[in-house]
Amino acid sequence: MPFSETAVRSAIASGAMQAFYQPQYDAVTAKVKSAEALVRWIGPDGTIIPPARFIPQAEQSDLIMEIDWHMARCACEMLLKQKQKLPVAVNFSRRHIKETDFAQRLSELVDSYGLAHHLLEVEITESAMVNEEEHILGWINSVRAAGFSVAIDDFGSGLSSLQFVKDMPADVLKIDRSLLSHNCENEKERIVLESIFYFAHRLHMTTIAEGVETKEQLAFMRTCDCGKIQGFIFAKPLPETDYLSLCEINASADEPFDILGAQSPASASALLMGVVFRKYPLVIFSNLTRNTFYMMAYECFTSTGCPSTGVFDELILHGASSMYPDDQQPFASTFSRENLLKAHAAGEPFVRLVTRQKGDDGIYRRVETTDYFVKSPSSEDVLVITLCENLAEE
Ligand code: C2E
Ligand code: MG
Ligand code: MG
Repeated sequence: MPFSETAVRSAIASGAMQAFYQPQYDAVTAKVKSAEALVRWIGPDGTIIPPARFIPQAEQSDLIMEIDWHMARCACEMLLKQKQKLPVAVNFSRRHIKETDFAQRLSELVDSYGLAHHLLEVEITESAMVNEEEHILGWINSVRAAGFSVAIDDFGSGLSSLQFVKDMPADVLKIDRSLLSHNCENEKERIVLESIFYFAHRLHMTTIAEGVETKEQLAFMRTCDCGKIQGFIFAKPLPETDYLSLCEINASADEPFDILGAQSPASASALLMGVVFRKYPLVIFSNLTRNTFYMMAYECFTSTGCPSTGVFDELILHGASSMYPDDQQPFASTFSRENLLKAHAAGEPFVRLVTRQKGDDGIYRRVETTDYFVKSPSSEDVLVITLCENLAEE
């Protein structure tokens, strides 16, 4: 049954339009870190009218803006009462993208409560961004420049494109629950999810999995290094007073936690990679048999102007070209596929050479390159892992 605009407005004015808060938990420590404000219309007899019953209709007009701003005010009021000051995400409909003074208005609102801007997160659904390419980038940038964080909501629910999200300067990617089947038991589905998390992490976005309901889903989310969990497995959206009490309990139960107890393969390898990259800012995996490579470069390597995957022979030529002239020939010869394969056949465990490599600043620095031969259980191909280390200045 449709609602009249007057009914919605009077629900806002009378306090019948309320914010419930669904806690968002750290995926590893299972502690409450933040929440999402979700609108609930409380009927005169106490029945709760869910947003699905009135939000789609409100979104047909600017009425939705009144609801969203009301929710932002509710979130600020809740934060004033909350000792722990955990961030709150508020949903904003696509119509706000056209509000040119949105960031200014949100700043004024949050300032009027004397709250720090980082406590408010702006959620905008992925589908709202489609066909808004013209405005959305500037809009997100202005919201973030004002100190608020921005989350892309419902990622994966519509015609999502990684290509599109990669251009969005958002802080958080919320993975839609439609991507999670009952127990995440489907192999292909797991691969898709793993790739999405990998992609988000590479873009330095934090991740929230929505709609996690089962132990199996939670366990799988942990192996993907998901940042936070928002789902019925931990909590449903709660009235303000219940959420505030939960935060009190959560704060007092601050036991020391051993992160290794819940270590996932992905986060263990991330720790390992962190250590490897500290010493070797450039790591290359090559298949000598197939003449291919895959490169992982850390920001501080002297020169990384090379594609991250391609033809091995070309990589060597490219690498040699930015070296000190006297070093180019020895490098190209030592690391030619032919000579590497000979060294491997002769039983050498590795091949090593120090050269002078030109950095982006035009200065040559000594780099030690070591190719370790490695065996893959799934292939007879000759593989090498190259570790490049910047040596101290002479
Ligand atoms: P949303 O922003 O993606 O919010 C998450 C929805 O998923 C919430 O539904 C939440 O209750 C539900 N959910 C969370 N965990 C689970 C779970 O484990 N299992 C299941 N089955 N559901 C879970 P809710 O509160 O009914 O809100 C539905 C949608 O209505 C929201 O989706 C959002 O798009 C919209 N909405 C809610 N409040 C507002 C608002 O203040 N402004 C605007 N513009 N939209 C709102
Ligand atoms: Mg949301
Ligand atoms: Mg969502």
